[in-house]
Amino acid sequence: MDIITLSIPFFFALIGLELLVARVRKRPLYRLSDSISDLSCGILSQLAGILIALLTIAGYSWVQQRWSIQHVLPLPAWSHSPLAWVTVFLLDDLAYYWMHRSSHVVNLLWAGHVVHHSSEEFNLTVALRQSSLHGLMSWLFYLPIALLGVPVTMWLVCHALNLVYQFWIHTREVDRLGPLEWILNTPSHHRVHHASQGSYLDRNFGGVLIIWDRLFGSFAPELERPVYGLTKKQTSPTSPIGFKSKTDPQGAFDYPINPMKKLIAAGATYGALALPLRHQMLELAQAGAQSGTFSLEAYSALSRRFHQRVAVALLLPFVGLGLMVLKPF
Ligand SMILES: [Zn+2]
Ligand SMILES: [Zn+2]
Repeated sequence: MDIITLSIPFFFALIGLELLVARVRKRPLYRLSDSISDLSCGILSQLAGILIALLTIAGYSWVQQRWSIQHVLPLPAWSHSPLAWVTVFLLDDLAYYWMHRSSHVVNLLWAGHVVHHSSEEFNLTVALRQSSLHGLMSWLFYLPIALLGVPVTMWLVCHALNLVYQFWIHTREVDRLGPLEWILNTPSHHRVHHASQGSYLDRNFGGVLIIWDRLFGSFAPELERPVYGLTKKQTSPTSPIGFKSKTDPQGAFDYPINPMKKLIAAGATYGALALPLRHQMLELAQAGAQSGTFSLEAYSALSRRFHQRVAVALLLPFVGLGLMVLKPF
C-alpha cells in the first residue's frame, strides 16, 4: 500500500485530536466554512491529481530512462543502501525547497500555490487545502533527481514521506520544540510561512528540514503572533462553491447552500468524474508501459497513486460530515 494512503487514518485521527485539545483549551482554532473549503479543495486536488500523477510519474520516468547521467559517465546505478535513501531524501527536500520558493515569487506558480495560503485560519485541515493545478508545473523541479538516475519508485517513496511529514506542522497547538527547531521544519516555522505580516513574508519554505532556509537566507523565527492569510484580503469567496453560515456571516456568496448538501455534491461530482477518469488514465499508462515510453515500475507506481487519490477523495466528504454532525466549533 502507498505511504500516503496508509497515513490517511492518522491524518484524520490528528484532526480529531487537535479539535479535542482546542476544545479543552477553549481556543477557537476552526471555522466551519473555512474547514469545509479546505476539504473541498482537498477533494478537487485529488481529482486533478489523477491526471497530474500520470504527467509527473511518466515525465520523471521518461527523463530518468533516457537522460540520466549514467548514460554519459561511468557511474553506478543507485543502490538501496541506507546512505542512498538518505541522499535521495535530502535531494528531494532540497528540490522541494526551490519549488516552494519559486512558487512564491513566480506568478504562474503562485497562481496555483495561493490556494494553500488563502485560509485565514491555521489548523490541520489547512494542510489538505491544496491546489488542483499547481502540480502541472511543480514536478519539473524534481527532474534534476531523474537526471541523477534515481529510480522513480525510490524518489516517489521519499517524496511521499516528505509530504506526509508536512501535515502535522499545520497547527497552533504545538509550541516551540527546543533544539529540533534548528534542523526541522516545525509548526512554529510553518506558522511564520503562513503569516501575512511584512517581516514574515516569503520565509521558511522548507519541507522537512529548515536548514535550507538557514543556508539560503530565507529563514525567519516566530517572534510576533502570526496573522494568517493573504496580504490582500479576498473579495472573492474563500469557498469554491460558497455558502453563508452562522459562524462566518461575511463568508462567501450570498445564497445559502447547506454545507451538508455541498459536501454531498462534491462527493457525487468526484464519483462521477474521478472513477471514469481514473480508468482512462490507467489505460493510457498501460499503453505507455507497453510501448516502452516508460517502465513497468512507473506503471505500477501510477496505479497505486490512482487508488490512493480515489481513497483520499472519497474519505474527505466523511470528515466534513463528521465535522458538521459533531459541531466541534
Ligand atoms: Zn507556501
Ligand atoms: Zn502550509
